[in-house]
Amino acid sequence: MVWKVKHEEFESSIACDDGIELRASLVVDASGFASTFTEYDKPRNNGYQIAHGILAEVDHHPFDLDKMVLMDWRDSHMGNEPCLRANNSKVSTFLYAMPFYSKFVFFEETSLKAKYDKLCMPMQRLSEMCCSAMSQLYHR
Ligand SMILES: Cc1cc2nc3c(=O)[nH]c(=O)nc-3n(C[C@H](O)[C@H](O)[C@H](O)COP(=O)(O)OP(=O)(O)OC[C@H]3O[C@@H](n4cnc5c(N)ncnc54)[C@H](O)[C@@H]3O)c2cc1C
Repeated sequence: MVWKVKHEEFESSIACDDGIELRASLVVDASGFASTFTEYDKPRNNGYQIAHGILAEVDHHPFDLDKMVLMDWRDSHMGNEPCLRANNSKVSTFLYAMPFYSKFVFFEETSLKAKYDKLCMPMQRLSEMCCSAMSQLYHR
């Protein structure tokens, strides 16, 4: 685990928690979103993504077992829910569908624009979208 990164003019170095120190001409920080190694001149106002998933046991489903539906942004499955469709035009969400077996399928509805402190996309609405997608697709 890296606990310190030092950048100098011609080389950088890292110090690890097991006492190892490494020097290199280039150190790339790939420690992700929560990195503490980058200093910012302004307070950060991060966006957060949220997701709601359901593993459903069904009598049958319309999906090929060897295919996944990835990032389906269409809103056709909200046809019977006008308020869901109106909300979706403001903050869009996408659907994943992952069939495991002929009677098991995983659905996940994701919002990339939810915020931690002030939710643009309440979890409740995401859950409703996931359930709406599941019921529409399941009844195809
Ligand atoms: C629930 C969820 C669902 C997602 N779904 C999708 C999706 O469907 N499609 C999509 O494109 N993206 C998705 N994402 C986003 C995607 O996972 C991230 O954008 C991506 O993982 C960022 O990659 P990264 O390498 O920058 O950081 P990370 O994947 O966070 O990797 C950072 C790594 O650095 C390590 N690390 C941190 N600090 C230190 C340290 N001090 N020393 C050593 N190691 C350290 C961490 O342990 C971690 O392994 C999802 C994210 C979440 C949370």
